[in-house]
Amino acid sequence: MLNYSRTPSSQVTSQKPYDIQGGKNTPPINRYECDKSGFAFPTGWGGYMYVENDKGERILCTHPIEGYTVTHVLGQDAPPELIRKRTGYNSFCICLDCRYKFAADLKDDKANPWRSGWPVKDKDERECPQCKSKNVRSVYELIGKTCPVCGKGKIVEIPTGLIS
Ligand SMILES: [Zn+2]
Ligand SMILES: [Zn+2]
Repeated sequence: MLNYSRTPSSQVTSQKPYDIQGGKNTPPINRYECDKSGFAFPTGWGGYMYVENDKGERILCTHPIEGYTVTHVLGQDAPPELIRKRTGYNSFCICLDCRYKFAADLKDDKANPWRSGWPVKDKDERECPQCKSKNVRSVYELIGKTCPVCGKGKIVEIPTGLIS
């Protein structure tokens, strides 16, 4: 997972939970991988929730205690408007041209249902941080499509049977 993070995760020290997703956040844990080459995205649900600190760095909110991280970064009394502005959902992405792997807050063409708590829009530009190509896809957009790494297999979604 850390390979996909733009910023290091923080230690969670705050005590007060913040039920930011209305308690409906129980995604299944799936594997996303090529059925031929073994190329794989991180196991999970296609991405992760983040909260931005004062420097604009995105801090990974560890599931299922996302609220603790939000409170830790934004403060106990953060107003809902601030929370709305400073939280989001990073999708695991890959550049189809240089194969660089990264995380970005994009609106998936094939919507990831587990990010429905956030406004549906591209917060980040759909652009590879390494080669600047716009030819970028999220995990969910690649399910059932040709593997971007080997060009032969297909990216498949494999349930692990676990619920987070
Ligand atoms: Zn492959
Ligand atoms: Zn690239």
